[in-house]
Amino acid sequence: MNNELFERAKRAIPGGVNSPVRAYGSVGGTPRFLVRAEGPYVYDAEGSEFVDLVASWGPAILGHAHPAVVKAVQDAAALGLSFGASTPSETELAELVESRVAGAGANGETVHPIEQLRLVSTGTEATMSAIRLARGYTGRDLLIKFAGHYHGHSDGLLAAAGSGVATMALPGSAGVPAPIAAQTLVLPYNDIDAVRAAVAEHGDRIAAIIVEAASANMGVLAPKPGFNAALADIAHENGSLLILDEVLTGFRVTAAGYWGLSTGEGPAYQPDLFTFGKVIGGGMPVAALGGRADVMEHLAPTGPVYQAGTLSGNPVAMAAGIATLEHATPEVYAHLDSTADTLAQAVSEALAREGVAHQVQRAGNLFSFAFTETPPVDYADMQAQQTWRYPPFFHAMLDAGVALPPSVFEAWFVTAAHDERAVSRIIDALPTAARAAAS
Ligand code: PLP
Repeated sequence: MNNELFERAKRAIPGGVNSPVRAYGSVGGTPRFLVRAEGPYVYDAEGSEFVDLVASWGPAILGHAHPAVVKAVQDAAALGLSFGASTPSETELAELVESRVAGAGANGETVHPIEQLRLVSTGTEATMSAIRLARGYTGRDLLIKFAGHYHGHSDGLLAAAGSGVATMALPGSAGVPAPIAAQTLVLPYNDIDAVRAAVAEHGDRIAAIIVEAASANMGVLAPKPGFNAALADIAHENGSLLILDEVLTGFRVTAAGYWGLSTGEGPAYQPDLFTFGKVIGGGMPVAALGGRADVMEHLAPTGPVYQAGTLSGNPVAMAAGIATLEHATPEVYAHLDSTADTLAQAVSEALAREGVAHQVQRAGNLFSFAFTETPPVDYADMQAQQTWRYPPFFHAMLDAGVALPPSVFEAWFVTAAHDERAVSRIIDALPTAARAAAS
């Protein structure tokens, strides 16, 4: 059935998929066509059940089809799907985000760095708009990004990008005009000297530095302690903005995202703009950019930087986001953390028993595994690992009813619904999968 559906999809849709990594290109085989999901499980068209560690690539933090989220969506849908006009729920979601993103300031005081928020529909729109805003605010053109970081698929952000671009081993994308690509300086991750050198050379042209709060699109790779804070210092000394991309990490690793985690553990730092997505929509298309009010007010209609969207802030998506954030309680984060600890340790032990060299890659409750003997610090290290060990591991897990991300360059996502039964099924599948990775 999956084979037939894939053949049919390939005739109607390029590559049979609407987002490249779903095609199983790097692991081989036929993608499972999913028809239903509930709690920690997904079900394919053949009726097979899989414990899911993809979680829709992050949004399903509460587990699939959480009753409160489904009810909120149903109630909102009954009142109309989209009005193309202001709604009370947009302000409610913006206020929730603004109040939840709280952390330590320079003097230990509590700060709320999201003073204003603009809601959009995808992470791609959020980062694209944040960059336009940074350029409009600073009057400068250049952007610094890091190799292996994925910020969506807008033209200027595809050079040396993570996620599907990394999985397909592309240097960038065809179709991006050279003059646009030339406005992005791509630097090695975790290398603060490279940032200083680029700023020394191009300083008065650099509008912004954009960085994933913790890398999760080349596999998981946390910033070195103090790296994000040093970026903030360099950006601010240079009159540039720091855009912290929390599309993946926001509301997932803590209620205040990776910023909340890192600014508590290391030196306090304040990005000028943040981008969010995934969890803030709980499975509906919601994303956002937010930050300093004096910067955000440069967006139309208060300012000259244009940004808009027919479906932005639509009430059904808002209802999903509000219900998801309201149910993302401290208990949920404690459960995600402990489940991630259990699974990361179990996978590592299974690989070690089979003599498979690997590193456990962690950033809060996000994790993945890199098949290498030395801890990676940047994209070159992540690419240099024994990537060929992942496809047999992936397929052994799939055969045992566990759906992992179909690429070694993606994070594994646990949810609040991953209970003992689901976790045991994953753990039971590991010895065979580790043996497959060893061969
Ligand atoms: N930024 C980061 C860090 C992401 O992980 C992603 C998607 O995975 C994006 C931006 C783009 O978001 P979207 O897929 O909603 O366009």
